[in-house]
Amino acid sequence: MTVTLLLEPLPADARVDDLASTFREVPADAPALRVGELSTQRGDGVFETISVANGHAQETGPHLDRLRNSAVICELPEPNLAQWRAAIARAVELLPSTGEFALKLVLSRGVEHGPAPTAWLHAAPAADFSRPREQGISVVTLDRGYAHDAAAQAPWLLLGAKTLSYATNMAALREAHRRGADDTIFVSSDGFVMEGPTSSVLLRHGEVYSTPAPSGAILHGTTQMSLFDHLAETGRQTEYRDIRVDELGTADALWLVSSVRLAAGVTELDGAAFPFDAETTRAFNAYLLEPRD
Ligand code: PLP
Repeated sequence: MTVTLLLEPLPADARVDDLASTFREVPADAPALRVGELSTQRGDGVFETISVANGHAQETGPHLDRLRNSAVICELPEPNLAQWRAAIARAVELLPSTGEFALKLVLSRGVEHGPAPTAWLHAAPAADFSRPREQGISVVTLDRGYAHDAAAQAPWLLLGAKTLSYATNMAALREAHRRGADDTIFVSSDGFVMEGPTSSVLLRHGEVYSTPAPSGAILHGTTQMSLFDHLAETGRQTEYRDIRVDELGTADALWLVSSVRLAAGVTELDGAAFPFDAETTRAFNAYLLEPRD
């Protein structure tokens, strides 16, 4: 079961009464993109992946805020968020009301020399993530190849934007698999913890939960933000800070968190067994599966 909607270009400030008339459903087996499309030719665009859990699109607001921020960093026309909200609501209506789905929003520079960006969303069943959620994952650290403050030195790297150019992230995952691990944590060339190729890093030292400060070189994860709100509401201490790589080894628990896989506890780090906090992981995933806005 998949759903694809193609959105008409709409300026960010356009007010349209009938937003449903600005997007249309494309059958799964019908052509939807032109061959000159720059998202496919150069990865020149931005995206978001939202979880739809039991008929609810999770954290739509934070995902749309990040989509707009990514568009600004990439100098793409700002998306019309009301139109995206309406399209997301339509996709959710078309999906089954139980189960988990990954809903991807894509905004690209469009067709070369074309007049407007291309925008679409596509929803498909999520993979079965029960094993990483319940039993955890093994992780290796890999060098990201730049310093943790690289965003300020080289803004053209578009760090901090969720661009479609994920080939290097996928290459890092393949390298992790070659080394016998399920996933990886990127570390900066100057020795700081950054993020996973598709996830944010969360550490617990005692009762204090920390995550790398969003310096512009990593994505600010919607799942991490939601978990931090939840932790703060339930009286736990949270902090954003620069985290040195050796602090991974001194943590009492470590997670990679993301929108669709949710919280995966680390059970092995760089080949050595790592303490797995099964109880907190269960509580995290129970919270993350509740409807969240
Ligand atoms: N960092 C990177 C590089 C990502 O690709 C993702 C998600 O795909 C995340 C962090 C986690 O973000 P979120 O929790 O919003 O899914």
